[in-house]
Amino acid sequence: MAEETIFSKIIRREISADIVYQDDLVTAFRDISPQAPTHILIVPNTLIPTVNDVQPEHEQALGRMMIAAAKIAQQEGIAEEGYRLVVNCNRHAGQEVYHIHMHLLGGRPLGPLLACEDDV
Ligand code: 5GP
Repeated sequence: MAEETIFSKIIRREISADIVYQDDLVTAFRDISPQAPTHILIVPNTLIPTVNDVQPEHEQALGRMMIAAAKIAQQEGIAEEGYRLVVNCNRHAGQEVYHIHMHLLGGRPLGPLLACEDDV
């Protein structure tokens, strides 16, 4: 079985985080090290380490993550100007926490999607 990360403790409210949304399938909380004025992580309540581990039974939770993203963007007042959703998978993408999460970033123009190879 995959090892729990700090995100499981946040979901169970065992350690503090600024939770902005929670329902039966997903939890969303502010990133501890924000890269934009709005930087929120949306995670499934059950542990799925990476996109490579996604199974058909995860479909509802993964769909709910997208629905939550749209709701939270409205809540944050960034829906009209726009925002970016990012999911990193494994080392080359820079995944640090092995509990699938969607970054919701906005509140300023975000620039091009990818950093140049020289920047990483
Ligand atoms: P990744 O690089 O895995 O896609 O993103 C992990 C994100 O989790 C990073 O943006 C990092 O700042 C955030 N993060 C790591 N530990 C914590 C934590 O304990 N609390 C919160 N709120 N965010 C965290």
